[in-house]
Amino acid sequence: MLLVKKKENYIFQFEALNHFQGLTHAIGCRNGGFSLPPFDGMNLSHGVGDDPEAVTANRKRLLEMTSGGVHVYTHQNHETSIRVITREAKRRGEAIQTESVPADALITDVPGIRLLIQTADCQAVMLFDSKKRVVANIHCGWRGSAANIIGNTVFRMVSEFGCDPGHMTAAIGPSLGPCCAEFINYENEIPRQLWLFRVGPHHFDFWRISRHQLVTAGLLDGNVHGPGMCTRCNPHLFFSYRAARETGRFAALIGMDG
Ligand SMILES: [Zn+2]
Repeated sequence: MLLVKKKENYIFQFEALNHFQGLTHAIGCRNGGFSLPPFDGMNLSHGVGDDPEAVTANRKRLLEMTSGGVHVYTHQNHETSIRVITREAKRRGEAIQTESVPADALITDVPGIRLLIQTADCQAVMLFDSKKRVVANIHCGWRGSAANIIGNTVFRMVSEFGCDPGHMTAAIGPSLGPCCAEFINYENEIPRQLWLFRVGPHHFDFWRISRHQLVTAGLLDGNVHGPGMCTRCNPHLFFSYRAARETGRFAALIGMDG
């Protein structure tokens, strides 16, 4: 990942996604922004108890830093609902920027829309089919991994837009790494089919689980790009729920220009 400075804020970008014309993506770091501790500073979530005015100002700043567009935020439920954002939704522009869409994954083929996933340890998995020009952004925590929301989203891109997983590029955002994904009660929490990805007595490699699910869905292994950055190990850059229960959310966003 590349670190890019935008005035007093920083974003991360993946070289593999920068390579495509007319595609904008970013992972916003927590530094800068208007929120006070424990949400300092670029908290983008209205659902964590932060001052709503600070969150709105942070969202506006992110919009300015990432060349505008219509920012679509989700109300994530750790479930597997996938929403397709259509041209009609874009026409309602203002509404979808102020109301969150209840979903854990968003897909669109509409230029000018930016799909945002907010996280603090969970993964945001961004997808782009460069031939069909369709993007998706997926919120994937351990429940999402267990339910294979990644594979379901790839399938939906294929069934609804005729995408080819062989033409897709995926980027997994900063999230809990194998160093910190400890599940003491994993025998009760993590489904048995994922035990294969256990890397210590109680630790799991969810990055490898996502890669496995993407490749199983038809992506080429070389087109899957991992974060290599653990949120809990980098609390100065990212919000981490495991590092501090009361904290903010940063966002990954992706969309085509238009
Ligand atoms: Zn870690």
